[in-house]
Amino acid sequence: VIDRVALGIDIGGTKVAAVLVDSAGTVLARERGPVAPESNEAALASIFAVSDRLFDTYGRDRTQLAGIGAGAPGGIDWRRGVLTGATNLAWQDLPLGQALSERYGVPAVVDNDVNVAAWGERCFGGWPVPIQHLVFITVGTGIGAGLIESGRIVRGRRGAGEIGHIPLLENGPRCKCGLVGCLEAVASGPALGALGCQLAAGGSPTLLALAGGNAKAVTAEHVFAAAQQGDTGAQWLLERQGYYLALCVLISWRMLDPDVVVIGGGMAEAGPPLFEALWSALRRLRPDRSWGQQIGGTDARRDPSEYAVPTRLGADAGAVGAAALVLQPEAGFVEEGIISLPSR
Ligand SMILES: [Zn+2]
Repeated sequence: VIDRVALGIDIGGTKVAAVLVDSAGTVLARERGPVAPESNEAALASIFAVSDRLFDTYGRDRTQLAGIGAGAPGGIDWRRGVLTGATNLAWQDLPLGQALSERYGVPAVVDNDVNVAAWGERCFGGWPVPIQHLVFITVGTGIGAGLIESGRIVRGRRGAGEIGHIPLLENGPRCKCGLVGCLEAVASGPALGALGCQLAAGGSPTLLALAGGNAKAVTAEHVFAAAQQGDTGAQWLLERQGYYLALCVLISWRMLDPDVVVIGGGMAEAGPPLFEALWSALRRLRPDRSWGQQIGGTDARRDPSEYAVPTRLGADAGAVGAAALVLQPEAGFVEEGIISLPSR
């Protein structure tokens, strides 16, 4: 039996990552390259270049290819497969789905990058039981969420899940969206880095040393490292970070009551220190307080380490998730003609 394979493409602000994934979610090959932001034509050329290279290195014929999925930031008209535009990219109404489909001769679907990461975790996250309600929170340069409710991605009218732009602090820092005190302005990677800079300038020798003596060069990674080395100021920042991340979990919990919240994005790579801080805050906030029953058991309560978990797909979550939209199409995708797949 020849297994079906899908091409998954994760388009970021500066890079394109592409993977070939089989129906079990195994990554067969990976490729990456820069993305050209300056025009629709340049963007397409850079995406094609990475995909072509992937097929070259994979070195097998393309008859197994069932379809292509792509995830991208910014506005997406997912029914038409069109990228309508993103703040730091100059694309305008880029018909990515059609272009991919024409070039490689298979169906193609396009969706928001966080939505596809959520879908990837749902399909290939290794859950003991099928997951119908899942929230994926990405924390890195920005903060956003992908929402899956009853086995379907929640998209709203144009784009649901923008939890990073809930203004939580009345007198907080200004956000790049124009509002004041957004979660993203308070708790993204750059926000934590900025607080680390202040801490280093105010006299944290550990932090200053980690940043090579330059207080302005302190990043979120330095803060995590300093906390590990026992710097009390950095430990406080880590605790604060855990609290705001817990608020993201709590907000999504109150809205959707999911089975699980998966946390990914650049900051999740900090690993145990960040998750210990998150779980400790969640033990106080108790999103599961009113639960009666859960998947896999009848315990009234679970520990946060069981329901607020790090991504299992790691840096591949976006690309694998895009492929998952093809390999395990969302309910309604085939029926509504968003993707047509050849039968096995
Ligand atoms: Zn904002």
